Amino acid sequence: MTDHTFAALGVAEPILRSLAAENYTTPTPIQTRAIPALLAGKDLLGIAQTGTGKTAAFGIPLLQKLSIGHVPPRPKETKALILAPTRELAVQIEQSLRVYGRFLNLKRAVILGGVSQYSQVQTMSRGVDILVATPGRLLDLVNQKHVRLDAVNTFIVDEADRMLDMGFIRDVRKLVAALPKQRQSMLFSATMPDDVVKLVGDMLNQPERIEVTPQGRTADRVEQKLYYVPALQKRQLLTHLLKDNAMHRVIVFTRTKHGANKVAAHLAKTGVVSDAIHGNKSQNARQNALERFRSGKARVLVATDIAARGIDIDDISHVINFELPNEPESYVHRIGRTARAGGEGIAISFCDSAEKGYLRDIEKLTRNKIEVVPHDLPPPTEADLAQERALNQRPPHAHKHGKPGGHKHGGHKPGGHKPHNGGGHRAEGQQHGGQKPGGQQPGGPQKKRNGSRPHWHKNRDRKQSAA
Ligand code: AMP
Repeated sequence: MTDHTFAALGVAEPILRSLAAENYTTPTPIQTRAIPALLAGKDLLGIAQTGTGKTAAFGIPLLQKLSIGHVPPRPKETKALILAPTRELAVQIEQSLRVYGRFLNLKRAVILGGVSQYSQVQTMSRGVDILVATPGRLLDLVNQKHVRLDAVNTFIVDEADRMLDMGFIRDVRKLVAALPKQRQSMLFSATMPDDVVKLVGDMLNQPERIEVTPQGRTADRVEQKLYYVPALQKRQLLTHLLKDNAMHRVIVFTRTKHGANKVAAHLAKTGVVSDAIHGNKSQNARQNALERFRSGKARVLVATDIAARGIDIDDISHVINFELPNEPESYVHRIGRTARAGGEGIAISFCDSAEKGYLRDIEKLTRNKIEVVPHDLPPPTEADLAQERALNQRPPHAHKHGKPGGHKHGGHKPGGHKPHNGGGHRAEGQQHGGQKPGGQQPGGPQKKRNGSRPHWHKNRDRKQSAA
């Protein structure tokens, strides 16, 4: 039997100390394979999702490499560059590196869009060892000559398929072109659509390929329930369900920013402390909301799919799909927010008459028929139903760039159905015309995402080591 410890993988003392403090006793499968390869200087292609421990898989060897024979960075330069598709993920990566590297003396910075560039420019003026950035703002600062990339010796792209989904792949390519050719590179992606395969070919040199086989589909470990409920009664049902104190840390998902605001406003009226996060909120507001949720000050977080991406919060008791997502993969991502501690989780979905097509797509993807539970709300009145029908038929709002007669959803609709979209509000992050940013066709390769997500978690490890 081989020795399953971080020390046996070649991890150095100061990092071992911080891992021990975090209760990371055993490396996860991706860490077991990636750490020695990366310490040996190889490039890496990691096909893995959030929850596999991939951040530490690249973060630990990176910190170790930078700390050996450390020379302080020169103004405006960074030695390592990590690109992430969302602001939340970038912040999370930086936080993890701070934890793993707390006994090392390395300088880090985060560069994100949506906030003032002033402090980012200030930090970069002194130079850093590690820069975590979203691609758009970084490209801006490089063009403004506030950041130099010519000293980068380690380059990491995280969640490359998300970069593609969100239209960042061109920016990533531009940044790759500005990097020194001599460097160590890594790319992580949950799926491998064609554009990501191409990027891999362009940026990695004979990479070690590590594919982490998911340990059972997320769907298998999450208890899933479905309520058929008219759109107009969803808020009432939500309030009713929240009377159960077992729902102590709940994420409520909506498709649209507008929907998220409406749900949060409703919860406020009913005395439930909640925050909404979505793309229209400032970075500070989003971070504050996450912190309030994490600390338990807010019991409910109302989120759109994009805003919730990459959120790593433990002990989420319930996920409620107030509106079903129009992309079935999002359902798997959403319900994967619960059951993170390797344990069980509960996901409750509300499905109104216009969302049945979405439900079909979800059940097809997950190959699972969700258990339907009756609710005991009073039946909707004829007036309620008429109002819901009117809502479903209502033409979309007159967007400035909207076409008369309604826009198409960007999402793929295999059944040819046309569910409503929150009264004409687009799902967040979606463009008109059914074309995904980045030139990818809906229903294209990103559909391959199988949605499974293994879980490695300190709580579980604690449980295991206690057992
Ligand atoms: P990631 O896939 O990087 O988002 O990591 C998912 C979660 O697993 C995070 O909460 C990490 O703190 C945790 N984690 C990563 N590696 C380990 C490990 N070896 N032991 C215990 N927990 C870990």
